Amino acid sequence: MNDYIVSIGLEVHCELKTKTKLLCSCKNDFGGEPNTRICPVCAALPGAMPALSREAVDLAIKAGLALGCEIQKYCKWDRKNFFYPDSPKAWQTTQAELPLVKGGVVEYDLGGEKKTVRINRIHLEEDAGKLIHEGNKTFIDLNRCGVPLIEIVTEPDLHSPEETVAFLEELKREISYSGVSDVKMQEGSLRVDVNLSVAKKGENIGERTETKNLNSFSAVKRSCEYEAKRQIDVLERGGKISRETRRWDDVKGVGSVMRGKEDLDDYRYFTEPDLQPVVLTDEYIENLALSLPESAKKRVRRYIEEFNLPEYDAKVLTADKQISDLYDDAVKCGADPKKASNFVMGSVMRLYKENGGKLCVNASQIARLLQAVNDGKISLSTAKDVVLPAIGSENDNPLEIAEKLGVLQINDQKAAEELVDKILSENKKAAEDYAAGNKKVISFLTGAVMKASKGKFNPELVSKTIIKKLNQKE
Ligand code: ADP
Ligand code: MG
Ligand code: ZN
Repeated sequence: MNDYIVSIGLEVHCELKTKTKLLCSCKNDFGGEPNTRICPVCAALPGAMPALSREAVDLAIKAGLALGCEIQKYCKWDRKNFFYPDSPKAWQTTQAELPLVKGGVVEYDLGGEKKTVRINRIHLEEDAGKLIHEGNKTFIDLNRCGVPLIEIVTEPDLHSPEETVAFLEELKREISYSGVSDVKMQEGSLRVDVNLSVAKKGENIGERTETKNLNSFSAVKRSCEYEAKRQIDVLERGGKISRETRRWDDVKGVGSVMRGKEDLDDYRYFTEPDLQPVVLTDEYIENLALSLPESAKKRVRRYIEEFNLPEYDAKVLTADKQISDLYDDAVKCGADPKKASNFVMGSVMRLYKENGGKLCVNASQIARLLQAVNDGKISLSTAKDVVLPAIGSENDNPLEIAEKLGVLQINDQKAAEELVDKILSENKKAAEDYAAGNKKVISFLTGAVMKASKGKFNPELVSKTIIKKLNQKE
């Protein structure tokens, strides 16, 4: 196994978050009743003519810019001809010869080590519909027909399943920060095809196979491991790798052959006669660059430089844009950057995961909770374990929740003194020990007062009061 080098190149499809589809004005959305977002163009009725969405072109350019790639000022459209029932035109409108984006390098991080992957191209194309199989019947839903996709094609610069996933995480992060796609693998707005080959060290790159339509990062990782091992086994037994398209069964954990690899010629590509080429000016591209939101990489730097966060925090917080936006807004609402970071990375992210990626708290609520902790109104652990999970809606006031749950800390100096006096009179020995120089009794006494108050007193206030009283006695 160690004598071999694995090479992996990816074809990543991302659905763009446009208002309408690529070639018609049907709404671009996910799910819904089948065939409710279609028109003569989607259904390929005779005579229906396409009209290109400018927004789709803009978003594809923004994706290219976000990944640091070269935008081509002249690109055109091609027909990729094939029949499949989910695509009634019998061709896919795509960019084969002159794509919108060519060349670039994406830097990513693998356990602290900086690595790079070259991007070969990014082109814009349309998605197909969906087949729905029920029993022995198959239905066709054309809602997804014509949804704009970008296909990001990398060079085979990845050399392990771990590198592949780390790169995909980086890609997903930057695309999501750029705002051009939701990149939700579970909804199919991010799909990955993996091209993989193996070769003995020092030899030329080997023949590859392509595993199609992987829809989770763990499926990508497992299928890479499987396919690398399979190819090495074949070669070790003296066999040859044949160029083929494969599928991956994530439940069984096995890959299998889908079909032999088709040639470019098989698709009979030709220029789409119904669409004009796209011609861009430098100014047009620059304006789109200016409209790009802050990238994830920039945000990491800002957290380190402006908020003084450790690099670790900055990376954890920015891994998911929703979390990072929430954190940013909490700081804007006045929360201390480091305290907010601890709070978000710990409790908020745990709840977020438990709720399947749904945020259950907003920035102002986080800021108010941390303020209440700062003011001694609730303890940090109460804020994390009791109040935060009890927040149910945008309008909930954390302090009111704490009050309702009876977990507000008592900050009443007089009440504290009374209770401390009582406990001190019950623990004369401890006071004597203190006078004799044993300062450890303070925590014992604080514990006793806290217990007597059922945990409701502010512990800081309690221990200060105890020290004051004991010093008065001395
Ligand atoms: P095709 O036109 O047949 O799809 P491309 O040259 O466009 O082929 O490559 C498709 C993908 O396959 C790219 O991501 C590329 O990096 C990858 N690839 C090409 N050759 C190899 C190889 N020998 N091993 C692994 N991946 C490869
Ligand atoms: Mg290809
Ligand atoms: Zn339509």
